[in-house]
Parts: sequence; C-alpha cells; structure tokens
Amino acid sequence: MSKNEPGFATLAIHAGAQPDPTTGARATPIYQTTSFVFNDADHAASLFGLQAFGNIYTRIMNPTQAVLEERIAALEGGTAALATASGHGAQLLVFHNIMRPGDNFLAARRLYGGSINQFGHAFKNFDWQVRWADPADLSSFESQIDERTKAIFIESLANPGGTFTDIQAIADLAHRHGLPLIVDNTMASPYLIRPLEHGADIVVHSLTKFIGGHGNSMGGIIVDGGTFDWSASGKYPMLSEPRPEYNGIVLHETFGNFAFAIAARVLGLRDFGPAISPMNAFLLLMGVETLPLRMQRHCDNALEVARWLKAHDKVSWVNYAGLPDDPNNALQKKYAPKGAGAVFTFGLKDGYEAGIRFVEALEMFSHLANIGDTRSLVIHPASTTHRQLTEEQQIAAGAGPDVVRLSIGIEDVADIIGDLSQALDKA
Ligand SMILES: *Cc1c(COP(=O)(O)O)cnc(C)c1O
Repeated sequence: MSKNEPGFATLAIHAGAQPDPTTGARATPIYQTTSFVFNDADHAASLFGLQAFGNIYTRIMNPTQAVLEERIAALEGGTAALATASGHGAQLLVFHNIMRPGDNFLAARRLYGGSINQFGHAFKNFDWQVRWADPADLSSFESQIDERTKAIFIESLANPGGTFTDIQAIADLAHRHGLPLIVDNTMASPYLIRPLEHGADIVVHSLTKFIGGHGNSMGGIIVDGGTFDWSASGKYPMLSEPRPEYNGIVLHETFGNFAFAIAARVLGLRDFGPAISPMNAFLLLMGVETLPLRMQRHCDNALEVARWLKAHDKVSWVNYAGLPDDPNNALQKKYAPKGAGAVFTFGLKDGYEAGIRFVEALEMFSHLANIGDTRSLVIHPASTTHRQLTEEQQIAAGAGPDVVRLSIGIEDVADIIGDLSQALDKA
C-alpha cells in the first residue's frame, strides 16, 4: 500500500484485518468462542481493571467483532467503534452513555419507525424523554432545548422518505448549545455520506441494511468521532466522573478521544448485553468488502427506476432526491454527490386498492419489511407497517393509502423495471 491514506474501497477490504498470526488464514476467522484464556493472574487482573486491552468474554469483546469495529471506524473516519447485536442495540447503548433519568434529547421527526417506537415508548421506562423536531426547521430544535437536554439525534438520509438532512446546520446548532450530534447513517452508509466530516460527533448504524447488504445478518455499530468534550459541562457524568465499578477510573480522562466507545462497551454492552455473534460479525465483514460497488449500483439503478416511474401514467408522484426537480436535490448534491440512495416512495393514482394489487402482482420484488438487500424489495405501508393508524396519521407519517416504498436492489435494471411494469399494468 502507498504511504498516502488508503482510499475508501481499499479500507473496505483491508482496514482492521491481518492474516491470522497462528494459522496464516487470510479471511478473518470466526472466533466462535465465549471466552479467552488469561496468560496469568496479573494479566487477568489488568484486563478486568481496564489497565490493558484484551479479550475476556465475547459479551464484551471478540476478535472477529474487533475487525468489524476497526473497519467501520476507518470507513467513517472515527477514532473507535463498538459493534452490537442490532441497530437498536447500538442506539440503546449510545443513550445509556449520556442520559440520566429526567433528561431529554431532541430527535428529528423523520426517522425509521422502529426508532420512533424505541424513543417514544421504551425509553420512557428509563425516564428518558424525546422531544420531536422538524429537520427542515432549525428553530423547532432550538426552541425545545433546556438545561436537561443532552443530545440531538437525526438520520443523514431519512427512512422511509429518502430525504436528506442538513447535517452541518444541525451540528452547528447542537455545538452552540454544548450538545453532541448523533447521526444514524444507515440509509446512506459511509460510501455516500461521512457525517463526522459534516460536524457529527457520534455515528450509529443498523449494519443489517446496506453495510451487510445481503439480508442475512442483524448487527449495529456505534462510531466515536472523538470530537466531543464530554468533561466541559459536567452534564455527562458517565464519562467525566469516577466509575465505582472500575476503581474510580474517569473514562474521558483515561481514554480521551475514544472514551465514548469505551464507555459503551465497558458500561453499556457489559451490563445490557446486546453483543453481536462472531458469525454475524464475519458475514457483515464480507458485506463491507463490496459496499462501494454495491452502493453505487444501488444508486444508479434507483435513479433509473425513479425516472421511469415518474413518466408512467399510473404514477402520480415520485419522491427521489436524485431527480433534478426534487425539493431535496440541492441537499443531495451537497452531502451525497455519488447518489441519492436506493430507498424511496412513489404514489399510485388509484390509491389503496391499487397499492395492494400492485404489491401482489410483483414477481421478482420481495414483499417484506426490510431495506438494503441485494434483492429489490417493496412494501405498501398503509396495509402493513402503518395499518393501525388512521388515514390522517398515515398521511402525516408519509404512509398514505397510495404510497409504495421501494428498496432498489442490484439486479439488472431492465429486469427491475420489467417487473414494475407488468405489476403496474395489473394494478
Ligand atoms: C433498520 C434500521 C434501524 C434499526 O436497526 P436494526 O438492526 O433493525 O435493529 C435503525 N435505523 C434505521 C435508519 C434503520 O433502517
């Protein structure tokens, strides 16, 4: 490798991995073991006291997981990362690092539905309050900040609408108020957007989607940007005050610009336990190797499909930021010039019944509740994920009766369009 910083595609294949020192295995081995033998009693003591890094037990750390962490940290430009069993597991550990009972955080209203549930319902049991804001209206964030506000959370490219968020503007606002910006970068992946370069402090992912990319394994990750001063305000005692469970160690003082990732591991992952399995870490690593190739193909296919749909006489509208007349096109050009992602929605002129007939007539597309697979996926939210809502609520959530959501795969685009075409004829 040259002396220059390696490029993205090189990092996607090599970052964090060496041939196995004992066997010479070139692919990263699956360390399918729960626990690791100590050299001696002193070694064990220093591992448990956080004086040395090393493997103890797979709930806390595992060598296959470690390669995945180093690789994603390199792709995002962070200082360290922590992999978890799922994207939601990662989000739980992020907020556990920063929230105390009675605290609040601001979140963009345009989020993955599962995150809306986690923040709005499950987090209430910890007395962590979410305050919803409009990502297109900065004043809706600013007006809700008070002395118990601890963070701002947004998606870089929001699921399911496929709309881009002005990361830099929201980062500036957060920093003016001494708050960290947390960005869910699942839909864009670091191939399209690296939020840390636009002022984010922490990045989270569901690896289940584009990064793994093959629809076979659950996983999540937290990337520490190393940029936020956790000690300045006294508002983040998990990081800035002595930890009784580790002989009074102060994590930010000891671990500096990767203290957030350490805290998520040794306080969050250790005690809540959403550890990724070594097998899933291995499968996700295989996915990462082809992320740049897949992601470009996803975007190229999606743009062609969006253009084709827009011209179809049974389609009333298409929401795809890559289309030049889309209201999101300027933000897409600024943040993700390589492409607008692969997930978007469109409307059928004939509404609810046409949506059901269309989804049932598709042959190659899979009808399911996921995104980011090699395969093309479809869902009609009003009859599935959003069916418990009133029509008014569905429309407010961008899931009105006529809305269809697509996640465009990496098949031949002619076959993708062919399938859509025959199903629209039947709808
Ligand atoms: C799927 C998803 C999540 C949750 O991740 P899981 O791996 O399913 O727990 C979070 N955010 C976004 C944007 C997602 O698409």
